[in-house]
Amino acid sequence: MTSYTVINPATEQPVRDVELSTAEQADAAITRAADSLESWRAVAPADRARLLRRFAEQIDSHLGELAALETAGSGHPAGAAAWEAGQVRDVLTYYAAAPERMTGRQIPVPGGIDVTFSEPVGVVGLIVPWNFPMPILSWGMAPALAAGCTVVAKPAEMTPLTAIRIGELALAAGIPPGVFQVVPGKGGVVGQRLVDHPQVRKIVFTGSTEVGQRIMAGCARHVKRLTLELGGKSANIVFADADIERAAATAPYAVFDNAGQDCCARSRILVEASVLEKFMALLEPAVKAVRVGDPRSAETEMGPLISAAHRAHVASFVPDGAPVAFRGSVPDGPGFWYPPTVLAPVAAGDLAWTEEIFGPVVTVTPFADEAEAIALANDSPYGLSGSIWTSNVGRAIRVARGVDTGNLSVNSHSSVRYWTPFGGFKQSGLGRELGPDAVDAFTETKNVFISTE
Ligand code: NAD
Repeated sequence: MTSYTVINPATEQPVRDVELSTAEQADAAITRAADSLESWRAVAPADRARLLRRFAEQIDSHLGELAALETAGSGHPAGAAAWEAGQVRDVLTYYAAAPERMTGRQIPVPGGIDVTFSEPVGVVGLIVPWNFPMPILSWGMAPALAAGCTVVAKPAEMTPLTAIRIGELALAAGIPPGVFQVVPGKGGVVGQRLVDHPQVRKIVFTGSTEVGQRIMAGCARHVKRLTLELGGKSANIVFADADIERAAATAPYAVFDNAGQDCCARSRILVEASVLEKFMALLEPAVKAVRVGDPRSAETEMGPLISAAHRAHVASFVPDGAPVAFRGSVPDGPGFWYPPTVLAPVAAGDLAWTEEIFGPVVTVTPFADEAEAIALANDSPYGLSGSIWTSNVGRAIRVARGVDTGNLSVNSHSSVRYWTPFGGFKQSGLGRELGPDAVDAFTETKNVFISTE
């Protein structure tokens, strides 16, 4: 067995060594999950709900510990990390209401009655990326457990610490062993076993579009159920009739949150040409005001990138001679820092326009009218999120309907709400997570006819 040393991205110091599981250990976890399925699905709905609420209470009483672990292991600012830990609690609480509400239907038929049941799909393999280790774990884990599935979760190599702790808290809450297991390991080893193993009946994958495509092909061999949450290159569209001051003041946070390592980052700002100059004049002080620094400080708004390799990747989109309009600052000394950076002018087709940079780099591009704004926003293989700034209600609705993306906000950059559906169009994903219907993605509908004759 090999191990991985988690590095604090703000200090470059080791945090902890984590053992990486082998394919055999992954198989053993899958077998345990399969063996636990019958007893877990047989737990009475109210008892399953109670166990999920106890799990949420365990998270709640360890919020500070989980947040500090994420700050140390992933470099997330303390405020953001606390919000992320709170989201795990809230997602568990929300889906704890599901077991008692998994009603089927009664459909009129001649000669008998016809009813449907929502059966748990089986063992779920949950593959999590490094950018939001806690929330993304919870989005799959909570509705799957509520549906009566057992779960084997694989955190990303670089950020396993909070998932491991959440696995311990599940046991402390009384979730039976084998029902929710966290198996740290490499994507090509543990992740691949989850995809290939016939006893895993569903994969929930969040990560890059490239790996997602490979996973989709792997799942096809078993016709394995699959939810994909993949990359994004979302637009923030600012019309001349918008509150330009607010649009400019908030734009940095819509892309530099989590140092831009956010699938929902609004990394292409589109501005109506007539207000471009005014917008840029307001954007510059807003970008320079973003507080980048020690993630342990409550004042910090942006921390470091996850690794030196990722910083080099981000920097490759800003080569010498790149059209840097202005940028923020970063601390001196160790840490994988990269300053908030605004590129303008950027033409459709430039690499910074087409690629998901996944760092604090945003492009600004002018547009002439509504039709061009929609066309530019849709000029991407991705379609995950986006924002529209306008004071014209009709335009807000027209543009929201015209942009091919799963999650839009008007005059806001709303982040993910666990009680509303989330997911992508086009190459940003397949299926939806969160919201009132998420449990359906972990069940199979069974139709039963009972003769009365
Ligand atoms: P990644 O695709 O490199 O890895 C994601 C996970 O897949 C990791 O746990 C990794 O170990 C695992 N993996 C890698 N190869 C595998 C294989 N062959 N089989 C099975 N598992 C394998 O992505 P990342 O770099 O960790 O995350 C960043 C990406 O995630 C970005 O593209 C981002 O947009 C995307 N993302 C999307 C959403 C969303 O909801 N749409 C949310 C967060 C991140």
